Amino acid sequence: MDYKDLADLIFPDAKPIEYYEEKYPARDLKEGAIVTRFAPSPTGFVHIGGLYQSLIAKKLAKQTEGVFFLRIEDTDQKREIKSAVSGITAALKQFKLEPDEGMISENEEKGKYGPYKQSERKAIYQSYAKHLIELGKAYPCFCSPEELDQIRKKQETAKIRPGYYGVWAKCRNLTVEEAIAKIKNGEKYIIRFKSNGREDRKIQHHDMIKGKVDFPENDQDIVIIKADGLPTYHFAHVVDDHLMHTTLVIRGDEWLSSMPLHLQLFHEMGFKPPKYAHIAPIMKNDNGNKRKLSKRKDPEAAVSYYEEAGIPEDAVNEYLLNIANSNFENWRRANPDKSLDDFTLQLNKMSVSGALFDMVKLLDIGKTVISRYTAERVYDEALAWAKQYDPELQKMLEEDSAYSLKVLGIERGNKKPRKDIAKWSDLKQNIDYMYDDIFYSQQHDYPYQVIKNPEDINKILELYIQKYYNDADDKQTWFDKIKDLSGEMGYAREVKEYKQNPEKYAAHVGDVSTVLRVALTSRTNTPDMYEIMQILGKDRITKRFYAAKIATGANTAENKNEEDLKKKLKK
Ligand code: GLU
Repeated sequence: MDYKDLADLIFPDAKPIEYYEEKYPARDLKEGAIVTRFAPSPTGFVHIGGLYQSLIAKKLAKQTEGVFFLRIEDTDQKREIKSAVSGITAALKQFKLEPDEGMISENEEKGKYGPYKQSERKAIYQSYAKHLIELGKAYPCFCSPEELDQIRKKQETAKIRPGYYGVWAKCRNLTVEEAIAKIKNGEKYIIRFKSNGREDRKIQHHDMIKGKVDFPENDQDIVIIKADGLPTYHFAHVVDDHLMHTTLVIRGDEWLSSMPLHLQLFHEMGFKPPKYAHIAPIMKNDNGNKRKLSKRKDPEAAVSYYEEAGIPEDAVNEYLLNIANSNFENWRRANPDKSLDDFTLQLNKMSVSGALFDMVKLLDIGKTVISRYTAERVYDEALAWAKQYDPELQKMLEEDSAYSLKVLGIERGNKKPRKDIAKWSDLKQNIDYMYDDIFYSQQHDYPYQVIKNPEDINKILELYIQKYYNDADDKQTWFDKIKDLSGEMGYAREVKEYKQNPEKYAAHVGDVSTVLRVALTSRTNTPDMYEIMQILGKDRITKRFYAAKIATGANTAENKNEEDLKKKLKK
């Protein structure tokens, strides 16, 4: 009896590997094209690190006219979660990282190198495992969990390396006859790889990110097929990336230490290994300690966080490119209007240790990204977000969409657009004062600054609306009139004038503008006031001034007649 008999007994129905070798021929791509993938386990949680990996993978594939595919690694069926695949495909779609090939929804896939879900590739793995058994490079192991535990304990006591290797690998020395007898006897088993590596020998590997790395060879007889007939990660990785013709494996650097094993498996199976790029995880500064972004502790580790906060996908992608390549920032400065597609990502410019996640920076990018959007785009994206997360904002935007477009158009579309919205969840409080229903339903504290005296404030508002404001004025005329009003009040018409003679004036034109701004919006900081006034129009400005006057509590002619004012406000 020989290895073939053993292999046939274990996997009687497995096809010869030639069948799959022919079924999945080399890809017809141009020289240098990168075939790469994102290969998550469907755990129900999409980590921002996965998005980061996918962005890098998709970009490299695109830059080289290669292929980016999505493979679902669901061989750990204990961990499996319902609809986790659609969570992954939806996240990739949302961030414009759709794969060229692979899973596209929970149960659908595209491409000729499938199935792209490992649990559906059982027969393929078994063929390759059978092949290894036939070559004498894999064997059934009958050790029970208790026996393995005993081995581990003995190793611990003797303070030697743990694992199933060398003299500890009890079943590797069973003869084919012994193994066959045990199987026929109904004993349970798994399949292990028979390692020919030696711990005292080194292998060298060149990683596309980490550079040159040295490791001891692998001497562990690792499990390749588990008791449920499914492969372990290591075996599936080698079989799949071989058959799918992956040229570059981009994955988290927690796998770097598995390199000796993976290279050995490729070699022993007679396959050409792909190149590897091990990415350092995204880190977080936790009170001075640098640690990985954690699914448990950090809400921003979840891709869903960005969607819920309404941070635009473009901003997240741009931020991730920022941490991926240190030269991105300079490129962006030189090319403020270019699309991210125009940036060439370089693996050798990736940071070897983990980049720190910086929310302030991300939000800052969000502001720039949104500042470049047209009012229509802001409207559409904010509305789509509001429909899911903020019914009040949805109502605001939808009630009079033409009006909302005007509000969102303030200081937009010019050379220096205003950068005050980082995420859609900021929008409501950014624009709500432009909506009368909301404005009058809120309590306002009217934070006047230099000119605080109620009589002065009332006089400014009174004069301005009676004598100076006109909807038809252009911006220059509008501003000249605020200067005229300042002069009439005895303040400096120009800031410069005031600075030259500060003792001569109680205030200047800027302070008068602040009074108008605060009276209109109850804020000291708003976008362009001329545009705000144009949108509100004289009637609504007048009404807001009434409200502001009442709020000052000053003993003016108008305030004596508070009841009348209130009535006017109700109109
Ligand atoms: N399923 C593995 C993981 O989620 C994939 C690693 C790889 O890309 O090879 O970490």
